[in-house]
Amino acid sequence: MTKQKQIIVVGAGWAGLGATYHLAKQGYQVTLLEAAPYPGGLVAGWKTPGGRSVEGGIHGFWYPYQNIFSLVKELGLEPFTEFTRSSQYSPRGLEVQSPIFQQEPLLPTPLGTFIYPQFNYLPLIDRLSALPMLYSVIDFDNSEEAWQRYDKVTARELFKQFGVSSRLYKEAFEPMLLVGLFAPGEQCSAAAALGMLYYFILAHQPDFDVVWCRGTVGEKIFKPWVEQIEAAGGKVLTNQRVTDLVVEGDKVKGVVCDEDVFAADAVIMSVSVSGMKKIVSNSPTLSSYGEFADLSNLGGIDVLATRLWFDRQVNVPLPSNACFGFDPTTGWTFFDLNTLHDEYKEETGSVIEADFYHANQLLSLSNEEVVAKVHGDLATCIPEFKDAKVVDSSVIGVRQGVTHFAPGSYQYLLKGKTSIENLYMSGDWIITNHGSWSQEKAYVTGLEAANLVIEKFGGSPAKIIPIAPDEPHIQLARTVNQMVRGLGESLLPDFWLP
Ligand SMILES: Cc1cc2nc3c(=O)[nH]c(=O)nc-3n(C[C@H](O)[C@H](O)[C@H](O)COP(=O)(O)OP(=O)(O)OC[C@H]3O[C@@H](n4cnc5c(N)ncnc54)[C@H](O)[C@@H]3O)c2cc1C
Repeated sequence: MTKQKQIIVVGAGWAGLGATYHLAKQGYQVTLLEAAPYPGGLVAGWKTPGGRSVEGGIHGFWYPYQNIFSLVKELGLEPFTEFTRSSQYSPRGLEVQSPIFQQEPLLPTPLGTFIYPQFNYLPLIDRLSALPMLYSVIDFDNSEEAWQRYDKVTARELFKQFGVSSRLYKEAFEPMLLVGLFAPGEQCSAAAALGMLYYFILAHQPDFDVVWCRGTVGEKIFKPWVEQIEAAGGKVLTNQRVTDLVVEGDKVKGVVCDEDVFAADAVIMSVSVSGMKKIVSNSPTLSSYGEFADLSNLGGIDVLATRLWFDRQVNVPLPSNACFGFDPTTGWTFFDLNTLHDEYKEETGSVIEADFYHANQLLSLSNEEVVAKVHGDLATCIPEFKDAKVVDSSVIGVRQGVTHFAPGSYQYLLKGKTSIENLYMSGDWIITNHGSWSQEKAYVTGLEAANLVIEKFGGSPAKIIPIAPDEPHIQLARTVNQMVRGLGESLLPDFWLP
C-alpha cells in the first residue's frame, strides 16, 4: 500500500532529510526537492575552488540531541569529537571557562550551571540575582498556555521584571540569547528565551555539554546519510526550487518546480521561514489560506560565517568560544578547527571559524572588510593573533537565514498539520511539544511530519526519543505552581492580559 504513495518533501535540511529517510525506509516513493546544489540546508558544507572545506557556520550537538545521536548510530557513523569545554570572551579578555558538566559531581539543577563555570569578572552577587528568575523557569512548561503567557513579552523585559542585575544580563544572558536565538533580548520572545535556555542549559546539569563534527557536517553526516536514503529507494534531487503547490479542494495534488510538476499524495514542507514566505508570495492558492498569508508576519535573521587560514599556529586555549560586547546587537563565536576537524590537525597555520549572529550591519561590508574585522576581534580575545597573517579566507553571508523568534511571533508559527489535509510542515520553526531546539528540533519535526504521513497511509511510525524528564524537584515545583495557578484562575475573573 505505502509503496504506491508518492510523497514529496521540500527542503533538504535536517527536517527534510529526516522525513525522507524514515518514509523511504517504510517503502514510500519519496522525492526530496532541494533548491541548493547540495543537501544540508543551513548546515550544508562544500569545497572552495581551491579545495578547502567550508560551511555556513559551525554546528554544535548538545547533550540532549538524543534523536540525532541515535540516527548517526543507526547510520553507522562516528562523526563527532569528544565533549569539549568552552570559553567566553569580551573586549576585556577571557571572561568565563566552562567545564564538562557531566564530569562534575551531579547537583540538583540549576545549581551546577551557576557553580561550576569559572567566572573571571562577574561577581557572585550578580550571579545570585538570577535566583528570582527560577519562578518563570518553573512557570514556563512549554505548553500552549505558557507560550501564550510569555510570547508577547520581550526577553529583556522578563529579566528586568525578575530583578536580574544589569551585568548578569549583559555578560551572561544576552550573549546566550544572541547565540541561541540569534537576536538581542529586546528582540526575542520571552517564551522562546525560556524554552531555549531550559533546553540547552537549565533542565539537567550535562545539557550544556557539546560535541562537534570532526569535519563539515556535510561530509561527515549528510553525504553518507543521503547515500543511505538513496539505497532505501528515496530520491534526493538538488537544484530544484519549488515555486508553488497544486491544491484542489483543500488537498495538495502536486508540487511545482518552475516548468515541472511533481505529482504527490502528500507533501512535507521542510523549508525555512523565509523560504516558505517566498513560495507563498508566489502562490495565489497558498496566499488564500490565512495561516500561510500570515507567515509574512514572521521574519528571519542575518548570519555571517567566516573561515580564516593563518600563516602560523596560535594557541587557542579551548576549541569553542562565544564572545560578547564587541558590537551592541551582534554575538559571535569562534572555533579552533585545528583541534576540532581531522583535516586541519596537521595544518601548519591556525584555521579559525568565526560566526556572527544578528549580523545585519556586517553583511553590507566587503569580504576584505569582514576579514579585517574578524582578525581584529580575534586579536582582542587572543593577542597572539595580532602578528599572524591571514593567508586565505571564506566569507558566507546568509540574509534572513535563521528564524526570528520575535515577541508576538508564536501566533503565526505553523504546526505539523495544516488546513490542507495532506500538506505537513516541519523545520526548526514549527510548533512541537517535544521541547527541543535548533538542529535536534528540525530533525524531530521531520520525523513528526513523516509520522503524520504514516498515520494517513500506514507504516511504522518513527521512534522519537522524548527529552529527559524534569528533575523531581522541578516536577514538584511545577505541580504546585499549576495548582496555585488553577486556583487563581477559578477565583479571579478572566480580566487581565495573560
Ligand atoms: C551560523 C549558524 C550557526 C548555527 N549553529 C547551530 C548550532 O551550533 N547547533 C544547532 O543545533 N543549530 C545551529 N544552528 C541552527 C541550525 O542550523 C538550524 O536549526 C537547522 O539547520 C534548521 O534545519 P531545517 O531543516 O529546519 O532548515 P534549513 O536548514 O533552513 O533547510 C531548509 C532547506 O530548504 C531549502 N529550500 C528553501 N526554499 C526552497 C524551495 N523553494 N524549494 C526547494 N528547497 C527550498 C533550503 O535551500 C534549505 O536547504 C545554526 C545556524 C546558523 C545559521
